[in-house]
Amino acid sequence: MNYTILGGGLSAISLAYFLQNNQNIDEIHILEKDASPGGICRTFVKNGIEYDVGPHIIFSKNKEILDLMNNLLGKNNEKHRRSNRIIHKKRLVQYPFENDLSKLPPEDIDYCVNSFLHNPYENYDAKNMLQFFLKTFGEGITNIYLRPYNEKIWKFDPSFMDTQMVERIPKPPKEDILRSAKGETIDGYLHQLYFTYPKKGGTEALIKAFISKLNPKIKIHTNAKVKEIEKTSYGFKITTSSGMFEADKIVSTIPVNEFVQIYKDTCKPKEVITAASNLRYNSIAVCIVNVKKDYAGENYTFTIADKNIKFHRISKLDFMGANYHIDGTATYMAEITYRKNDLNDQSSDKELTEKVIEGLEKIGFIDSKQDVNFTDLKRFDYAYVIYDLNHRKNMDLIKNYFSSQNIHLNGRFGSFEYLNMDAVINQSKILAEKISNT
Ligand SMILES: Cc1cc2nc3c(=O)[nH]c(=O)nc-3n(C[C@H](O)[C@H](O)[C@H](O)COP(=O)(O)OP(=O)(O)OC[C@H]3O[C@@H](n4cnc5c(N)ncnc54)[C@H](O)[C@@H]3O)c2cc1C
Repeated sequence: MNYTILGGGLSAISLAYFLQNNQNIDEIHILEKDASPGGICRTFVKNGIEYDVGPHIIFSKNKEILDLMNNLLGKNNEKHRRSNRIIHKKRLVQYPFENDLSKLPPEDIDYCVNSFLHNPYENYDAKNMLQFFLKTFGEGITNIYLRPYNEKIWKFDPSFMDTQMVERIPKPPKEDILRSAKGETIDGYLHQLYFTYPKKGGTEALIKAFISKLNPKIKIHTNAKVKEIEKTSYGFKITTSSGMFEADKIVSTIPVNEFVQIYKDTCKPKEVITAASNLRYNSIAVCIVNVKKDYAGENYTFTIADKNIKFHRISKLDFMGANYHIDGTATYMAEITYRKNDLNDQSSDKELTEKVIEGLEKIGFIDSKQDVNFTDLKRFDYAYVIYDLNHRKNMDLIKNYFSSQNIHLNGRFGSFEYLNMDAVINQSKILAEKISNT
């Protein structure tokens, strides 16, 4: 039997890794549209500086998957302690925001603490993300940080997003909020307090490590954009930009909204087509700026809710060690999200880069444009799945349809879920087990 996996990102590579010892499968073909596999786990290089599609760190609550990632990377892996900051009114607040309230101006501390302790929203059922924030954190923390930050990254009103992403966030204990307001900084989200990152090669080192473990029955075809899939008497006929493939079984990891369009079936239900076109997602531009001075200190990421600054986050790449550093300089990566046809999408790369440099000046990370040595900007169409209020309903419809066609959906945009690397690998492992048991 031959399996063909559409797309060649982490979900495809890890699925092939888990499927390769299945005796019923003779060949696995991975069809990737780009010139190299890896998808949004790829790493790019500018003047010797390696950078990812946004800062990728390796962490997980799932010990088995975490061990797998760390073992694959072996010696090319380094442990780091989180040092993330939120820039609020030119002050540095330690992440997570609610655990370092004493760094705020006095009026903001009062607003956050009082509205947390006397929260009129506390006993309502939260029906959307904004209501969840108000209920869990109170009006101050929500209005000063959570609401503007989430509006900025999602470019989508949090009252139209559901609670799938946030419902597992615990309500901070009253004592922690009071201690944090009085000057104690408390470490939160402990499962990501320590993380690892490849010593060199960026996140793509993980992709390469997986590929190095694949056996010869797995073939990765690059520059093979899938254009059409047709069901046949034997399985599937797949038309790609580099020729035709025949498959007994397929798994799709390509964005499911596109997959619905290219899957030819005269009986495809209209509701499925509509559901696919209503799936919401964000694209991302990442902009690298190498500068002459280092005003950021020993910190990695800085999140910024202020909408006068174009980027929602910057990361100091030097934090990851000597291989990500050029002596006498600092390198930042700014992230800007956007959706098709919005202002960021319509801005040229040069305009976005200028906005990033302007933002760096506003937050005091450069004195003037003259401090910039070099820049690089890349855009990626698919970065974040948006859990809008109809996401679950739309995806259930789509999943049921493809399951009736004997097609599995896998991966971040393949299954259209907000999945980090560990969750993607785990999803592949579970799918490989399911395939082996059928
Ligand atoms: C900004 C950002 C920061 C992140 N940070 C972290 C982090 O710190 N830690 C963490 O664990 N995870 C992080 N992630 C998540 C991580 O990148 C993803 O979970 C993972 O890369 C998803 O892999 P995938 O294979 O599901 O998707 P993708 O990487 O999107 O793979 C899909 C592949 O399909 C290909 N494709 C698309 N259409 C076609 C077609 N028609 N024909 C053929 N091929 C096609 C694409 O080119 C791509 O290679 C981050 C993601 C982003 C965007």
